Amino acid sequence: MAVKETGVSYYGISYPEHAARDFTEMRAHHCTAVLLALSEFDIFFWFPNIPKIVEEARKQGLNVYLDTWGVGKFFGGEPPSLFLQENIQNRQITALTGEPVAAACFNTPAFQEYFLELVEKLARSCDAQGIFWDEPHFAMPIYPVGYQSTADWTCRCSVCQKLFEQEYGYTMPKVLTDQVKRFRRRKARQILQSASQLAKSIRPEWLVTQCSLPAENNYYLSYERGYDDWEQVAAFPEYDIFSTSIVTSYDVPLATHQRLAEKTVALARKYKKIPQRWIMSYLGSPVDIDFIRQIARTYADSGVESIFSWTYRAGFGTILSAPEPINAWRTLGEAYKEVLGQ
Ligand SMILES: [Zn+2]
Repeated sequence: MAVKETGVSYYGISYPEHAARDFTEMRAHHCTAVLLALSEFDIFFWFPNIPKIVEEARKQGLNVYLDTWGVGKFFGGEPPSLFLQENIQNRQITALTGEPVAAACFNTPAFQEYFLELVEKLARSCDAQGIFWDEPHFAMPIYPVGYQSTADWTCRCSVCQKLFEQEYGYTMPKVLTDQVKRFRRRKARQILQSASQLAKSIRPEWLVTQCSLPAENNYYLSYERGYDDWEQVAAFPEYDIFSTSIVTSYDVPLATHQRLAEKTVALARKYKKIPQRWIMSYLGSPVDIDFIRQIARTYADSGVESIFSWTYRAGFGTILSAPEPINAWRTLGEAYKEVLGQ
């Protein structure tokens, strides 16, 4: 078995002594790593305790990765955004209807400054193993703002229009032409390139991960969220771990998991990155809890080196809880034990 790392995401606890108990539980469930999902509110309000929580996890031998969870709603996740609360400008604007949406435009100097300061703050204070770009995407103008396809798209704000016109010498079209698509992908890449370089200038040893949304399942239909070309993402020189996100359909066959794992591993190897796959253990998934074991085995057999699951205790106590969260959490722990060869 090639699996070297097993982990879960973790959030909502901001007392180091309480988190320490949960880290012990993670170790008992054969986790070797934890992804600290940090909302803007956490990073603002609970900031003094974040490095201490990282330290507690490290003391217990866990690898710690910091997830800029839901920041600006540019990244995936449920948390609200302080940036959006404080800025009625600097939002992504839909191309066809010209409506602002609840997502920061990452091409605006205001959001770039905010996001990079936040990355710098984490890098300077936290003795973690790395930083994690969680499902970055252009917003799709549906309600609630998500990342599925519609006829409309973002972003055609004044800043994006100006940047496009500077590069191409004509007004940014309202349709997704090939040039618009290339422009969006380039801009999507630039912001995370800057953030990765900044993090590594402070912590050269940090591993940078981008977790990309899958474009090959029954749920995520769009290929135009800015990061849908997996090969392009895998090739980014600043990245160390090539990660692809969970399959959110609850009953896709094992073959789908296998195909995604094999593609992830092939691209990671081609560009000398560590391959990472995610297992969904929350909400309705999987319908058959024992399927968690089979997914983990398939990942291990495919050569995945880092396996993570969303989330700790299968979301117990949240709206995302699995129907039998503790059973799902126990099964995940047993699956981790097996793939680690323990
Ligand atoms: Zn914009």
